[in-house]
Amino acid sequence: MTSQDIELQRDELTAETQTALERAEASHRHEALFSERAHNIKQSAVRDVFDISVRPGLVSLAGGSPSLAKLPLGLVAETASRVITEHGMEALHYGTGKGTPELRALICEIMAEEGILGASPEDVVVTTGSQSAQDIAAKVFCNPGDVVLVEDPTYVGALNTFEAYQVRVEPVRMDEDGLVPDELEARIEALEAEGKSIKLLYTIPSFNNPSGITMAAGRRQRIVDICREHNILVLEDNPYGMLRFDGHPLTPLRADNPDDVIYCGSFSKIFSPGVRLGWALVPKHLYRRFYLAAEAVVLCPSTLNQLIVTEFFRAFDWRGYLAESRAVYAERCKAMLAALGEAFPREAFPAEEGKGIEWTTPEGGFFVWVTLPAGIDTYPLLHEAIDAGVVFIPGAAFTPSDTANSHLRLAFSGVEPERIREGVRRLAPVIRAAVEA
Ligand code: PMP
Repeated sequence: MTSQDIELQRDELTAETQTALERAEASHRHEALFSERAHNIKQSAVRDVFDISVRPGLVSLAGGSPSLAKLPLGLVAETASRVITEHGMEALHYGTGKGTPELRALICEIMAEEGILGASPEDVVVTTGSQSAQDIAAKVFCNPGDVVLVEDPTYVGALNTFEAYQVRVEPVRMDEDGLVPDELEARIEALEAEGKSIKLLYTIPSFNNPSGITMAAGRRQRIVDICREHNILVLEDNPYGMLRFDGHPLTPLRADNPDDVIYCGSFSKIFSPGVRLGWALVPKHLYRRFYLAAEAVVLCPSTLNQLIVTEFFRAFDWRGYLAESRAVYAERCKAMLAALGEAFPREAFPAEEGKGIEWTTPEGGFFVWVTLPAGIDTYPLLHEAIDAGVVFIPGAAFTPSDTANSHLRLAFSGVEPERIREGVRRLAPVIRAAVEA
């Protein structure tokens, strides 16, 4: 290296140090500008694990990814090309904040398959995934300090959204039939006695993420009635509803309660999460505020993607595709349940000795929820699992309480059966060692 090279390097280093110093100084000044809301926005534990789970060789039972393997990509490409050639001027332009009328009509047909009959496209707001429908609901209804009731456990993305709006998230216990109505009522009364303002019940009644549990038919109306009596809106999140592979279909809470339930649906699990399209079916008297709030964030959802999805669904046997998808998820779920049964035979893990390992048997959706003996924390186990070549999401991510520390979520949706079996084989010794310790 010549002395000129050394000089150059020194100059570069000095410039880099200078930039770093300036950035540190700006960061210090700007820290005071953050809203309280921004301090509440956390990096999701699930996202952390996603970053790890793409490492080559790992079996990821972490992310709830839909299986896209059977999508006819040629038809998607052809549709996208046709949309641009034939409707380019519309597709590449701004649209209305409510979403295109054609997509809203299609959404009503999709919801009808699930038992929401006679919904009007005039009551639908197309959103950037159902995640953004939740965000809009929180924005429209929640002041800091208001209460949002959630199932315990619940979807981590919704927790992050509600917490960003500085609401008090109150988890309510579920059993194998979903949210427990008496506990919901008792919790509401206790919170009211404290003078709290309770705005929403956020529920995933079918194939709850993370537990896979479905709210029993007999409970559904009772839960809406309790909320109505206490003037609480139900925010029903149903991205997995059409992916039932076992048991009897159940109608969404929204079906018979058009004035008391905001219903969120999504194209993410039935088609593609990459198009970022979902929707809210909103009670008529709330609609205007809802879509104005949506417009204030995104102006309008992607016109291009709305046109592609509408045209694609019109050209495609989506009902047949959903039937195929259900079969794929059924097979994967079966592989996971069988692998768990083999890895943790009941006789080897006697519940009477405090060693019982339980898991849910979902009738649809993407997830199995595993319960280890009380006292075992699944968070540290994650590191051991990664060393063993498998990833899961620790239960604590799915609740603001400490009720799920000894649980873990396993997603079967995005993994081939053989890899699922391999993943559980890798996980088994980690769990066995923790139970036997
Ligand atoms: N709700 C639940 C229960 C989910 O599991 C997810 C995604 N994992 C979402 C909403 C977000 O879905 P979208 O892609 O439609 O925003």
